[in-house]
Amino acid sequence: MKKKHLDIVPIGKIDDNLLQRLSVTIYHYFGYPCRVNEEWESPSYAYNPDRKQYYSTMILRELCGWVKNDSVRTIGVTNLDLYIPIFTFVFGEAQLGSHCAIISLARLKQEFYGLPPDNELFISRVEKEVIHELTHTFGLTHCGDVNCVMHASHTIGDTDIKSDQFCKFCNYKLISNLNELAET
Ligand SMILES: [Zn+2]
Ligand SMILES: [Zn+2]
Repeated sequence: MKKKHLDIVPIGKIDDNLLQRLSVTIYHYFGYPCRVNEEWESPSYAYNPDRKQYYSTMILRELCGWVKNDSVRTIGVTNLDLYIPIFTFVFGEAQLGSHCAIISLARLKQEFYGLPPDNELFISRVEKEVIHELTHTFGLTHCGDVNCVMHASHTIGDTDIKSDQFCKFCNYKLISNLNELAET
C-alpha cells in the first residue's frame, strides 16, 4: 500500500492549535499531509517513580506496534518528561530509519526553567525538535554544524542555537532519501 500520510499521535492532552501548526510544518518539510489522531492516555506502563519521568523507548515501542497501514511515519507528541536510562532526560527519541519518533514538550517551555512563558520561542523549539526527530526516521544522523537542525541537542541552549533549517549536506541527503522513499 502506498504510504500517503504522516501520523501525529498526541500522548495526553496537547493543544489543538499547536498540533495544527505542526501538521503544516511537517507537510512543508517532508511533503506528506498529516493526520492528527485521537489522543492517547498517559502511558502509566512507562512511568518510573524514582525518576518521576517516562521511559521514552517503551512509548516508542507502543507507537511502532500501533502504526497504520498507509502511514509513512508516526510521531508521538507529549507533555510528559521523557528519559532513556543513559541520559537525565531526552527532548525526543527516534531510531535511525525506523517508522516512529516521539518528542516531549516538557523542557521546551520557558516555565520549566523558571522563566516567564514565551509562546513563539516554545513553538520554534517544538518545530525544531519535530523536524529533527522525523529526519532521523528518514535516515539522517547527527550533524556537526551547530546551525543545522540535525545538530544534537543536549541542552535547551543547543536547541536555541540551531536553526530550523538543514545545512546543505543534510538538505541534499534528506531530499534524496525522501525521493527514494516516494519511489518504493
Ligand atoms: Zn538527534
Ligand atoms: Zn547538517
